[in-house]
Amino acid sequence: ERILQKEKVNPLKMINQEISDFASKTEQEIDKLKKMESFRREFMANVSHELKTPIFATQGYILTLLDGAMDDEKVRQKFLKKAAKSLSQLNHLVEDLLTLSKIESGQIKMDFEVFDIQDLMVDAYEQLEHKASKKDITIHLDLPDNESLEVNADYNRLMQVMLNLVTNAIKYNHEGHNVTIQLKEKEDRVKVSIIDDGMGIPEEDQGRIFERFYRVEKSRTKKQGGSGLGLAIVKHILSEHNSYMSLTSKLGEGSTFSFELEKHREE
Ligand code: ADP
Repeated sequence: ERILQKEKVNPLKMINQEISDFASKTEQEIDKLKKMESFRREFMANVSHELKTPIFATQGYILTLLDGAMDDEKVRQKFLKKAAKSLSQLNHLVEDLLTLSKIESGQIKMDFEVFDIQDLMVDAYEQLEHKASKKDITIHLDLPDNESLEVNADYNRLMQVMLNLVTNAIKYNHEGHNVTIQLKEKEDRVKVSIIDDGMGIPEEDQGRIFERFYRVEKSRTKKQGGSGLGLAIVKHILSEHNSYMSLTSKLGEGSTFSFELEKHREE
């Protein structure tokens, strides 16, 4: 009887406990929803701002043309080209936004296949060599001498990663400088690095540049006309490959962006 007495629970106390547990859980849920809502609001504000920039620019060029600039053939050409460039920037931004939202909502499935990662490096090099040479930048390809280094990955998505990283290495670099696409073998993994001797990234910004729309010193990079979404896309694609980006950078000296992939093993 004594034992039973001891084990007897007080139902009122139990209910009280449950109510207070429920209340604290509800509070946590509400906090989470509030955070998500403010995140969404901030995102929408960013998107609207980014969309407005090229729209206003295009509008400005067209209004100037209508205002009389159209009569001069040279000026007409110049303003039409600028308007076209702004529209292409807008297009780029919308494409990046769609890609990001599709990846985040799981709508894009990675298309894994086995291929030689060295082919991807050469492909990226060939696609961007011309762009680099316009700025008198040399791209170096530093590959190991292996016959083949196979990975199981999504070729096209990894190509997008390479193009984003190498384009940045060119964009945030000085005329006449260098970009290296390097591949290293590491036991059961390969390590890809994109190395530049350009502007570098201040330490306080290094942790944040993978966030959507985050840019170092807005005024400086605005001139470069990017979407601010490139590295966010890179981060997502790599995470779908169980990989992540690592960054070392020094302001004024350059940056190295690296990621690793597992080598493909024959079953
Ligand atoms: P953006 O479209 O602005 O290039 P990204 O997401 O690709 O957007 O990059 C975010 C920011 O990180 C850039 O605006 C730039 O300030 C910085 N950044 C990226 N790559 C480099 C690099 N190789 N060297 C210096 N800064 C870089």
